[in-house]
Amino acid sequence: MASQHLDEQISRVFNRPLTLSARLRTFVEAGRGYAHLSAVPLTYLAVSPGLLELLREFLQPRYLSDLVGIELSGADRHFFTMLHRTGVLVDAESPDPIHALQTSEQQSRTLLLYPTSVCNLRCVYCHATSGPEAGPRLSHEQAIVAVDGFFDTLDDTVRAVMLGFHGGGEPTTHFDIMLTAWDHFQQRARQGDRIAAVQTITNGVFGPTVLETLRKPEWRVVVSYDGPRQGAQRPTATERDSRARVVANLRALRKAGKIVTTRATLTRDGLDSLRALVDDAAEIGIHRVQVEPASIVGRGANLRDGPPDPLAFAEAFLDAFRYALRAGVQLSTAAWSHPRVGNGRYCAAISGTRALTPDGFLSACTEVGDGSNPDDPFIVGRQRLGQSLELWPMREAYLQSRIGYDLPDCRDCYMVDTCAGGCASRARAQSGHTHDRDERHCIMSRHINPRLMADLADGRLLPDLGWQPMAAELDGSNSALAGISGRLVALVPPFARSRWNADADRRPVFLPPKDAPCFFHLPPEAE
Ligand code: SF4
Ligand code: SF4
Repeated sequence: MASQHLDEQISRVFNRPLTLSARLRTFVEAGRGYAHLSAVPLTYLAVSPGLLELLREFLQPRYLSDLVGIELSGADRHFFTMLHRTGVLVDAESPDPIHALQTSEQQSRTLLLYPTSVCNLRCVYCHATSGPEAGPRLSHEQAIVAVDGFFDTLDDTVRAVMLGFHGGGEPTTHFDIMLTAWDHFQQRARQGDRIAAVQTITNGVFGPTVLETLRKPEWRVVVSYDGPRQGAQRPTATERDSRARVVANLRALRKAGKIVTTRATLTRDGLDSLRALVDDAAEIGIHRVQVEPASIVGRGANLRDGPPDPLAFAEAFLDAFRYALRAGVQLSTAAWSHPRVGNGRYCAAISGTRALTPDGFLSACTEVGDGSNPDDPFIVGRQRLGQSLELWPMREAYLQSRIGYDLPDCRDCYMVDTCAGGCASRARAQSGHTHDRDERHCIMSRHINPRLMADLADGRLLPDLGWQPMAAELDGSNSALAGISGRLVALVPPFARSRWNADADRRPVFLPPKDAPCFFHLPPEAE
């Protein structure tokens, strides 16, 4: 019965006109051909020249049976069936809509608030101009109005809502406003029968009262923490070392059973300390570390040592990535972008974020924490108390037109779906224009992504069970086709899991548990 079902699937692949996915991107790494598909599922291919040539035959609709004949081995049939199932080859007449699924189609929305531009640290590279004496704070009234405005304009189809807090300054220095906003947000979510979640970024320099709240399971917390470089790079506003307090809070969060995530920043002098950062994370029990090169805007522009060279950063990241896998730490960086389904937009700033700043402006970008320069292209509106919300649609439309597919330097790049030109704010800091590509990011992106994609395709890097990974392989020993060899690895991104599994043809025999890890690991011989 099962074999008859399989035969039907195979015959469907061979006896219909198929075309090559328009999103298949090819690249060469270390002299070998590869391709990837930034779609559902995320697919990585190592391809021989013969296989690539065969795939290119499908730029026009073709029948597989016409091109490869029928005397195929079982491995051939399995491999071509997998090319079809993963959407590398799609039905010319009725493409499966699963491959076009986008994260943005999820029925969830986020409200982002910047409670204050006041900060209790004076980090050497901070993009904001925060300091202990700086700026206004969001009022309770402003927060309530923002929450109400958010819910009043929500579409009925939105079933999950998230409240997020970010800087400008350190959100927890204005903690009562966070509690007010979260209380009201939950109330409104309950009224609409929606699932509510909350998250904050913090520098980790907070006392027991804040800790008591943040350790609760519903709070998702990301802590900015530079590990061994904390003392040098993140002194308190009174020039004291902040490390002991932050580490104590990280340990407490870990003890409370939370997934502990940190964000670390490296200046040029810190580049050699990346492995030490991983060791420190492993010792504290930090699960995930996102590491980024120091900003080149704001205070970062005046760094003594400056941001690291992008190529040197990329090399250090690749080295530390494997080191971290062995230590049980998930290391990531923004330039490593391929493991997500892209839409040509680099970040939320290009997708319509409207975060309320403490001085009542709406900012699309986390590096623009207040409206001190209302002409900044990232300021997209204003919310004055007692007046209706003022949106500046021309500003938003211009920002949202910064799409990788339209940037002359990026549109033909194999990374365009997810890298998409990199950060618009940093592009502006380099060239003066938001709609240029971020050159520093470009160097990192083109160094990190092809190596890790090739590693995945060739099996030097293995996806965790949470991705529901699929693989198929053709080589001279199992294929009846001369010169055709390749390896395919496909991953189902978590947001698409339930839609993917709704079809019995796609569902794996054994479903992984819901909380199965969704990162990567090394093959046993490389550990
Ligand atoms: S434009 Fe750059 S700094 Fe601003 S939100 Fe996007 S990635 Fe972040
Ligand atoms: S910034 Fe560079 S790597 Fe990124 S999409 Fe543009 S050209 Fe490609």
